[in-house]
Amino acid sequence: MTTHQNNTTQNIGYALAPIILPDDNGFFGEFGGKIQHPELAKALQEIEQGFRELIQEPEFHAEMQRLRQTFVGRPSPIYHARRLSEHCGGAQIYLKREDLNHTGAHKINHCLGEVLLAKKLGKTKVIAETGAGQHGVALATAAALMGLKCEIHMGIVDIQKEAPNVSRMKILGAKLVPVSEGAGTLKEAVDSAFNAYLKELDTSLFAIGSVVGPAPYPEMVSYFQSIVGSEARAQFLEMTNQLPDKVIACIGGGSNAIGLFSGFITDENVDKVGVEPAGKGLDTPYHAATMTKGVKGEIQGFKCYVLLDENGNPAPVHSIASGLDYPGVGPVHSYLKDTKQAFYESATDDECLDAFMALSRFEGIIPALESSHAVAYAMKIAPTLPKEAKLLVNLSGRGDKDIDFILSKIEL
Ligand SMILES: *Cc1c(COP(=O)(O)O)cnc(C)c1O
Repeated sequence: MTTHQNNTTQNIGYALAPIILPDDNGFFGEFGGKIQHPELAKALQEIEQGFRELIQEPEFHAEMQRLRQTFVGRPSPIYHARRLSEHCGGAQIYLKREDLNHTGAHKINHCLGEVLLAKKLGKTKVIAETGAGQHGVALATAAALMGLKCEIHMGIVDIQKEAPNVSRMKILGAKLVPVSEGAGTLKEAVDSAFNAYLKELDTSLFAIGSVVGPAPYPEMVSYFQSIVGSEARAQFLEMTNQLPDKVIACIGGGSNAIGLFSGFITDENVDKVGVEPAGKGLDTPYHAATMTKGVKGEIQGFKCYVLLDENGNPAPVHSIASGLDYPGVGPVHSYLKDTKQAFYESATDDECLDAFMALSRFEGIIPALESSHAVAYAMKIAPTLPKEAKLLVNLSGRGDKDIDFILSKIEL
């Protein structure tokens, strides 16, 4: 029996924010789980064991600390977006600037951890999927840094859409595997990467791109991303002498969101809000609002809220932001929703585009389309709140990758 009571909030390892741990079977409440496939189960067991040992090693923490400071450029600052706040009227909007990290997004935080783990386990290669190419670029970067081989599986539709990231991965020395099955997007890329991994279990490590998948990935990626929340809480207190009223992040699989939330998870007065892509509208089939419109189900070896088609298979989904375009969501978020420790809202493609332009024009910051969903929600609620209220938005990435797409959508 797995119950909510089994889930604890703890500091594991040290120097990071507390994270919500799954039970021994990989469940957060009723969500999550372990892979059943016997060979894969054995490989993931090795990864889990390695991870638990790694985070107890002082040398690992020293190396992470060095790389965060000198390679990634952490701590990423918190910025008070005064002109945007004034434009909205009402609450003050602050941004945690993950867009300023080397490679331009939060994904480098977990990629460094995953690659250090691969090295510890004596692997020579990392394999992963990518949607928008952000995880692929961050992993290829970390692999180049550590001298490991890197193989990235990517749907052919995404390859066309995200040409600059494809070039970056190739320049960094990664091998790109195009995936033409199904819709040719993220879900198929995950299947393809897992199949490739199965053939090289001894020499490679599967390095997932979000807090999704079977155990131990959701826990592991949460752990590496919790640096965002632990920094943000201390920085916000120092800057304002207060905690924010709400912390807000966009949700694809949920890694940048859980990273931020973990810093505030025991602060009951701080609302944790995840913002899903409502695409062309929640009443159309063209969205990826898993928590708002999904049901409890299974996808790719774990249980979570999921959008299903009429045959009970994961549904084709849509978002203007490729990085949010996934019919499932992290089990930890499914659990936080049901236990009301976090709240899940949505923003449409149009609201996202407005927020993208507003942040660019009022603050001189071009955000990723993914992050623009969180900005959009903050802009929507700010006018309903008093001037003293404070909203902290995770600006998960920068928008350079999106500029050609934007020019095709908006006449400037
Ligand atoms: C990948 C990505 C996301 C979505 O992934 P999460 O795991 O939900 O954080 C959000 N923002 C950016 C910039 C990304 O690259």
